Amino acid sequence: MLQLNDKLFEIFIQKEKIQAEISALASRLEQDYTGKEVVFIAVLNGAFMFAADLMKYFRSSCEITFVKMSSYQGMHSSGRVDEVIGLNTSIKNKHVVILEDIVDTGITMEKLFTLLSVEKPASLEIATLLFKPEAFKGTHTPTYIGFSIPNKFVVGYGLDYNELGRNTEHIYQLKGEEESH
Ligand code: 5GP
Repeated sequence: MLQLNDKLFEIFIQKEKIQAEISALASRLEQDYTGKEVVFIAVLNGAFMFAADLMKYFRSSCEITFVKMSSYQGMHSSGRVDEVIGLNTSIKNKHVVILEDIVDTGITMEKLFTLLSVEKPASLEIATLLFKPEAFKGTHTPTYIGFSIPNKFVVGYGLDYNELGRNTEHIYQLKGEEESH
């Protein structure tokens, strides 16, 4: 059991299952990118654990870099402006795989995908540890998915509840919500 602020969480996906799935994802990626060098772009904060563990299982030569998505009110525009912060490497003509902790509605991923496409990578794919198919409204379904999960709030293994709970090895869900894994 895990307590974060006023909420109780129970284990939803055990650490062993997470590690086995990430190892399998790494093997798939190694196969799919044989003879090509990949640039992994991990999205902070949530993907830090997934990215670190994936890198331990991925044995081919690759690059990894970390970005954050930011949204601010533009001076002259009526809407918000999205930007990618921290991309310090050129991805032009490179094979890029975005690493996400979770794709929920897919809105965040859609914005990042559009912003990175402008840089003209040779290819651009998405790998996410968790995917909520019922909530998804995007157009780019992730190519690499660790676990498809119900539309419920999860924490742990990089994911937070009010910035807490990122530092756990298991993934948790609110206590009382049905187990489906
Ligand atoms: P989107 O709806 O744009 O796909 O997801 C936006 C962001 O909401 C994700 O990157 C993640 O930070 C957060 N998020 C979505 N679902 C969950 C969840 O179940 N638990 C936690 N902790 N964060 C989530």
